[in-house]
Amino acid sequence: MIRLRPHHLLCMLTYKGEGYSPEFIANFDRLTRQLAAGNEPVEIVSGPDDICAPLVAGGECHCFNESVLERDQKAAQQLSSLLGEPVVPGAVLELTGARLAMLRSAFRNGDIRAACEECPWKELCDGIASGGFVRTKLSENS
Ligand code: SF4
Repeated sequence: MIRLRPHHLLCMLTYKGEGYSPEFIANFDRLTRQLAAGNEPVEIVSGPDDICAPLVAGGECHCFNESVLERDQKAAQQLSSLLGEPVVPGAVLELTGARLAMLRSAFRNGDIRAACEECPWKELCDGIASGGFVRTKLSENS
């Protein structure tokens, strides 16, 4: 089981192997390999998750900030509508290939990007989506 906060269901789509620290990257790489295998359920959590873990362990992170919690709320609302099931803490999601394709399409169309509005990576993620998610870690493996 992989534990994810709601807005990381978006970030996993555009992750290309870059990040805050070598530990963060190694951990995110491992998680995308597990997710791409398609048989790893995702449990939705509130606050820091398995992607955040190396940053929390390092002691300096933005993972508890109010702005990041708001980002989760916005993502949860739009993702619940798209997936047709509640994306709330405790929910368990199956990320099948069809679901990942649906998420990528909605991301590219801007339908699930409310969480991205104030994110410093928005421009980067816009470009990755408009480029068809080429060479993202999840798409390399799925
Ligand atoms: S813009 Fe920010 S919140 Fe949105 S997918 Fe990219 S990194 Fe995640």
